[in-house]
Amino acid sequence: MSIKSARTRVAPSPTGHMHLATARVALYDYLLAKKTGGQFILRIEDTDLKRTVPSTEQEIMDGLRWLGLEYDEGPDVGGKFGPYRQTERREIYAHHAKILMDHGHAYPCFCSRDRLEIARQEQMKRKENPHYDGTCRNLDPSEAARRITNGEAHTIRFKMPQEGVTVAHDHLRGDITTENKQLYDYVLMKSDGLPTYHLAAIVDDHEMEITHVLRGSEWLGTFPLHVNIVRAFGWDEPLWVHLSVFLKPSGKGKLSKRDTTLAMKDGYSVFIKDMNELGYTSEGVNNWIALMGWGVSKDDVMTVEQMIDRFTIDSLTPSPAAINFQKLDHFNATHIRLFTTEDLAARLKPYFTHNGLNVNDQVLLKIIPLLRERLVTLDDCLAFGAFFFQEDVTPNPEDLIAKGLDAKQSAQIAQRAYQIIAELPDLSHERCEPPLRAYVEESGLNPNQVFGILRVATTGQKVSPPLFESMEIIGKEKCLKRIKNALEILEKM
Ligand code: GLU
Repeated sequence: MSIKSARTRVAPSPTGHMHLATARVALYDYLLAKKTGGQFILRIEDTDLKRTVPSTEQEIMDGLRWLGLEYDEGPDVGGKFGPYRQTERREIYAHHAKILMDHGHAYPCFCSRDRLEIARQEQMKRKENPHYDGTCRNLDPSEAARRITNGEAHTIRFKMPQEGVTVAHDHLRGDITTENKQLYDYVLMKSDGLPTYHLAAIVDDHEMEITHVLRGSEWLGTFPLHVNIVRAFGWDEPLWVHLSVFLKPSGKGKLSKRDTTLAMKDGYSVFIKDMNELGYTSEGVNNWIALMGWGVSKDDVMTVEQMIDRFTIDSLTPSPAAINFQKLDHFNATHIRLFTTEDLAARLKPYFTHNGLNVNDQVLLKIIPLLRERLVTLDDCLAFGAFFFQEDVTPNPEDLIAKGLDAKQSAQIAQRAYQIIAELPDLSHERCEPPLRAYVEESGLNPNQVFGILRVATTGQKVSPPLFESMEIIGKEKCLKRIKNALEILEKM
């Protein structure tokens, strides 16, 4: 069966850091567009000037690119449906607001902010949901026209049907029936001449020929309004998909700002800009967010290419999804194990260099097999492998003393190990392990005692990749220098 190619859009407002909710919409949009041979579009919804944070537009574009979700049309790449920034489309909205007014679907409202606030307070006292009371709905058109000509500040409101019901169809949730009296006359154009989301998104989705609107479920409340606006224009509706809500990691209640702060304390984040620094890969993040709202098997490990193969909007689910950071770790670690050695080396290198280490590429390639299985996040490479690129290590003196022995006995072991290694022609692990094991045997010591001292001496840490392989890569000369240094520390204790 041939599927009609989809035009999808992610339409973030540049009002704060790019959240994983935006990334999830973008991912599904991207998958649907690629799957159907369509286009994926970035539209910046920047009409709320008070809330706009200028730097976040770039952050969104960088975030999408980091995730590998290249958009076909957008503010910085252009496209034939542009501009893709809503503040550059003012005339388009003014024109459409006028069409609605001309056809009796919208009207100017001259109510002042103060009057609206008083009305709102009274409604609250009466335990009513705040709503516009309709004062200007039935103004005489000629009076309204006169007041506009006089330059009186006004907004434009949508004339919501007051009787009957609106049936709005969501692809995942089916028909949603709302009594029209539950809605009111929302503002479409603000007094500053800019549109609200309600008008701008509807007009743009039509003008940009968007076929599928995937968006957050916070828009379900005004969904009947949006459907009425589309119908007032006489346009075909896109297919609407309201995605699942994100829940707290505990699964109890919606994810809140407080949860975000708590996550950060644990070294996690819900902001895409932080993921790279925290050592997450785009593969891990995409896999994690893909499964929060997509009914494929919960543990499926997939690249975006594999997702494109399997994706259908029918398999998206409206059930809420708990943000589980352990799952992010799981997917990240799993993808790290799937990268080629060269790829993983290239990804780890910046973590070493940003920490002031001088990376030798040959050494880096050699340590990948030793590190790979130990990494959950890319930056774990520092904890496990920084010593490969350091000239000297600074072991904690206490750690150099083997269990059950004292500093003097530990120094003797270090001394003997030094001699054994010094006599070897090279430090390949095949060559160095047998004589050291023989020494363990004949001394009656426990292997952990001898190898523990050697590990701390040569790597500077108690936990490291396999000892002999690590020593081979560090090299004979440096190992001897480090053991000698350890010996000096032990002798002084
Ligand atoms: N600008 C809206 C937001 O950031 C977009 C919602 C939509 O996708 O229509 O929530």
